[in-house]
Amino acid sequence: MDGNIAIVMESLEKNGFKVEFFENREDMKNRILSEIDLSETVGFGGSVSATKDTGIYSKLKERGNRIFYHSTVKTPEEKDAMFRGAVLSDVYITSVNAITLSGELVNIDATGNRLAAMLSPTHDRVYVIAGKNKIVKNYEAALLRIKNIVAPKNSERLGFNNPCAKIGKCMDCKSDKRICNATLVQNRQMFFGNTIIYLVNESMGY
Ligand code: SF4
Repeated sequence: MDGNIAIVMESLEKNGFKVEFFENREDMKNRILSEIDLSETVGFGGSVSATKDTGIYSKLKERGNRIFYHSTVKTPEEKDAMFRGAVLSDVYITSVNAITLSGELVNIDATGNRLAAMLSPTHDRVYVIAGKNKIVKNYEAALLRIKNIVAPKNSERLGFNNPCAKIGKCMDCKSDKRICNATLVQNRQMFFGNTIIYLVNESMGY
């Protein structure tokens, strides 16, 4: 385990989060799949790590869990139903934009569905999965990472014509498709204690 992961794990635990370390994404995926019962509903945010990078989404779908994931539907009505289902799901799975060495989770959203779901006390468990590439020194470094790495790549992936997608760094735009509309810092575990962080000794997502 590298030094930064050990520091982050200790800090997250001090902040009341449940934390576990995995050498690779396969082990982490198998753990999550073994912990989710077939009867449980599962919500997803728009995370590349939670969907494409790990295969958790497709495995759950294949075995028949009821899933709420807005990217799989097209109409506004269908999306609303997915957002509602995800925020009320038994289990929510997402990644994180950055984790500071002092054990804080930092996320920026365009729509807010992921931020709302991460804070919802309705879930039995919220799995936050993160590769070591998400670890940053502090809050300022988290914002720099999100604005200059995460947002440009997400803007490009989603086909949004934001300045960062073209030049690879934030121009603090006022674009209609701006994806930095709300920032959430989770300093500590919430009262209901449902956030579980699974750290992986690999780079995952962005
Ligand atoms: S504010 Fe605009 S330019 Fe800056 S990262 Fe967000 S979407 Fe990109």
